This record gives sequence, structure tokens and C-alpha cells, in this order.
Amino acid sequence: MKKIAILGSTGSIGTQTLAIVREQGDIEVTALAAGSNVDLLEKQIREFRPKIAAVWEEDGARDLKTRIRDLGVSVVSGMEGLLEVAAEPKSEILVTAIVGMLGIRPTIAAMEAGKDIALANKETLVTAGHLILPLAKRRKVRILPVDSEHSAIFQCLQGERENAIHKIILTASGGPFRGRTKEELQTIRPQDALRHPNWTMGKKITIDSSTLVNKGLEVMEAKWLFGVDAEQIEVTVHPQSVIHSAVEFEDGAVIAQLGTPDMRLPIQYALYYPDRRSLSGARLDLFARKSLTFEKPDVKTFRGLALAFAAMKRGGNMPTVFNAANEKAVALFLKEKISYPAITEMIEACMEEINFLKHPDLDQILETEAEVYQLIESRW
Ligand code: NDP
Repeated sequence: MKKIAILGSTGSIGTQTLAIVREQGDIEVTALAAGSNVDLLEKQIREFRPKIAAVWEEDGARDLKTRIRDLGVSVVSGMEGLLEVAAEPKSEILVTAIVGMLGIRPTIAAMEAGKDIALANKETLVTAGHLILPLAKRRKVRILPVDSEHSAIFQCLQGERENAIHKIILTASGGPFRGRTKEELQTIRPQDALRHPNWTMGKKITIDSSTLVNKGLEVMEAKWLFGVDAEQIEVTVHPQSVIHSAVEFEDGAVIAQLGTPDMRLPIQYALYYPDRRSLSGARLDLFARKSLTFEKPDVKTFRGLALAFAAMKRGGNMPTVFNAANEKAVALFLKEKISYPAITEMIEACMEEINFLKHPDLDQILETEAEVYQLIESRW
């Protein structure tokens, strides 16, 4: 029986991971971690019976402990709790379905303990890819992409030799505001941006998809996962989200992965790789599709993508600045404290003002995040 631990089990990716576990019936869940949703975590613990459960806040952990005292599950909290879940001795794979840079240290702990990583938490690679990739090599662990685009690329690369990639074609739905002008973006409210045309996801990533910042984060994630340069990544807006991404090889052949927009497929592929399993749900019906269309992204209106390429090319701690500024800005936008265009304005301002470090270690990455937060709190 395959054994997995999940960070962020109560979120969008976490619950879909557990849906696969339920459907397949041959995976043991050894550990679960959530932020504050103790109600759902309790239900998950009763159904999947992990050995350890983590809640971020101590109060939440205490509450959970009381609720499940009949089960003999160890309840932990804080970063120590996440590290314990990540390195749970029996698990073979850690699913990183937590949001934000909080995922970096547990991911490293799991890798140090020899676990493969089913990686949804893209922030880990975006900000610390230069530390994670060498660690994976050293510890001989696999990083299995969960993001649908990266899973698509990973699937396209099966059986190919390592340096055969000429170009990666990363598809983007374009989000709900594709085609709008800069002026039209001024009046967008959180409830408008939380409506994604094709995918159902957590709040933060839904906003990021609408600004194209998510695509920018994915470009940086692709760089690390597939060892390509910025020039080898082409973002193509494909509003139907049927082609999940493609690879152009040295000889001009293009291989793509197609399917319905269903995150369970990439999650399941990561969990069972290299095997494929049957999966319930709708199948792609090409005859029901009148056309598949492709456009260049409008990076003048949606500056997030252009800024991401700039951050990636500069390297060092710049992707951390990009990511941290966006995280804070999105939180402020969701509280209606700033306007929609201010999200990318904040990112740009932070990229100009924060001290640049060419070779940041883990502490410096986390310090950069704190510096960005302070700058935003003092200014806006
Ligand atoms: P959600 O917001 O839906 O879920 C986040 C999860 O993280 C929840 O379980 C939440 O717990 C938990 N969490 C938050 N803070 C803490 C904390 N301090 N300690 C422990 N757990 C915490 O996010 P998504 O599932 O959408 O995204 C997760 C990651 O996957 C992100 O990095 C995202 O970019 C990436 N991703 C998501 C995709 C999607 O389709 N959703 C697609 C591709 C990548 P609680 O519920 O208690 O708050």
C-alpha cells in the first residue's frame, strides 16, 4: 500500500487528493496538516485515520485534540507540526498542497527524510528552486508536478532524453478579464476576480490566475522543473483549457497533453507515477469542441506576467520579492483595501526597492519575504 502525507489537506488540492485516495482505495494516509479548518480536518481524520495531524494555531490543535481523543492520533502545531507531518517516518510521498512560502521548510524536511514530493506548492520552487533541485538530486528523491500545466509537460516528456526540449508551450486560460483594457481593470472587485472560467481552485490562486501572476509563477516553476531558460518558455493563451501544455522538441515535433479541466488527473498521475489508473468523471469529447483558439498574452495590460519574466531573468531573491509582494497584495485586495491594478503596482514597486541578493540561502529567502511584508505594511 502506498503511503502519503498531505500538507493543506482541507484546501482545494488537499480535498481532491483525498477524493482520489477514497476512489482508489489502496493508499494509506499517514499524516495530515491544515491551517485552521478543524471541522473538516476532524472529518478527514475520522475517515482516513492518519497517525499525526497538524493544525497551525495552538488553540486549534488543542480543540482538535479534545475532539479526537478517542482515536489515539498525535496532534501537533506550528512549524514544528508541519515538519513532523512532512517527515512522518512511514510515508513515501509528501503532497505539498499548502499555500505560500510556508511550504519551503517542510518540503526540505521531507526531502531530507527521503520522501518524494507531489508538488502543488509552486512557491517552494519559485523562491527556492536553486536549493530544492540540488537537494532532490543529492537525496535521490523525485519532484512530481501537480500543477496541471507542469504535469502535462512532465507527461509529454516521458520516454524522451533529457536535453531534447526546444521550447515549452505553457497554456493559460487568460482568466475572466481577458480582452479588457487597463481602464476596465480599475473597477474589478474580489467577487469578480474569484470567478474563474474553467477551473475551481483556492482563493489566492484564482486571483493570481486572473492577473496572470499565476502564469508568471508557473513559468518560474517550469524553469526549475524542466531545466529550461526564460527564452525557451512560451506562454500561449488558450481560453478553452483543453490543451494543458505542450513541448516542442529539437526536431520540431510538438507533443501536447489534452483533457477536461480536472485537477484530480495531475494529482493522481503524481501519486501513482509512472502508472496510470482509471479515473471517474467527464472525458474529453473533441466533437463537442467547435474550435481550439490561441492568442499571445496581453502583457501590457496584465503586467504580472511581464514582471515574472523580469524576476526570473534577474534571479537571486527577485522571484521571492515577486511572490511575497503578490501574496501580500492579493490579501489586501481580498479585504478590499487596495484596487485590482494595485496588485501588480505593488509587485513592481517592491522589485525596484528591495535589496537584490544574487545567491540567497534559505534564511535570506525568508528574510527577503519578511522585508517585502514590512515594506508593504509601512507604505500601503
Ligand atoms: P487552498 O487555499 O484551497 O488551500 C490551502 C490549504 O493550506 C488549506 O488546507 C489550508 O488550511 C492550508 N493552510 C493554510 N495555511 C496553513 C498553515 N499556516 N499551516 C498549515 N496549513 C495551512 O489552496 P489551493 O489548494 O488552491 O492551493 C494550494 C497550493 O497548490 C498553492 O501553492 C497553489 O498555488 C497550488 N496549486 C493549486 C491548484 C488548484 O487547482 N487549486 C492548481 C495548481 C497549483 P485551512 O483550510 O485550515 O485554512
